[in-house]
Amino acid sequence: MPFDFSYIIVAVVIMIVGGIASYNVKKKYTKYSQYGNSLNLTGSQIARRILDANGLYDIRIEHVGGELSDHYDPSAGGVRLSEGVYGSNSISAIGIAAHECGHAIQHAKGYLPNKIRTRLVPVTNICSSLAWVVILIGLALPVQFSWVATLGIIMYATAAVFSLVTLPVETNASERALNIIRNEIGFGKEETSAVKEVLTAAALTYVAALFSAVLQLLRIIFLVNRRR
Ligand SMILES: [Zn+2]
Repeated sequence: MPFDFSYIIVAVVIMIVGGIASYNVKKKYTKYSQYGNSLNLTGSQIARRILDANGLYDIRIEHVGGELSDHYDPSAGGVRLSEGVYGSNSISAIGIAAHECGHAIQHAKGYLPNKIRTRLVPVTNICSSLAWVVILIGLALPVQFSWVATLGIIMYATAAVFSLVTLPVETNASERALNIIRNEIGFGKEETSAVKEVLTAAALTYVAALFSAVLQLLRIIFLVNRRR
């Protein structure tokens, strides 16, 4: 069997694109971690204000270890803020805290792309782990069973669909965050655009993830068609 160069090419491209995206978000995060916000609010304080203003009194704000590990956990009903966000009054901290609250608001309001994304989690997990097996079985079967390999490709494609659905969920959480800190909390134009820089850099990591998923999917389609 000839050596599969497409694997190396795809892996290198994904590494470069993902590397640039995560370097960029770290750069913006570090830059704006050095500037305190004008209202001197910490990440946890701003999160509490946002959640309360939206009637989400039950949602807890918790401290989580690591850097940029902030997330909203709908099953636990908690916004988890990392070391550099929870107790920090930096521009980065308020942006990230507000973004995670944006997810909590999406959940509370039943934002459709978020609902679809949640439903897709188990489907994507099962499909992506079984896709390769189905594709290999499909390729080993006689030609009248070529639909089996196609089914494997469709299963593989769920990862790309998941990444695609993640994009509007992430950008919408950031839009909500920016809108709240500007119009409800009362941060100025300059601070809001600094927050926007951090959140845009974070959103680009999801664009990079989608790009990687599509590239991997195209590689699989190419390989299967070549083998047929
Ligand atoms: Zn997010």
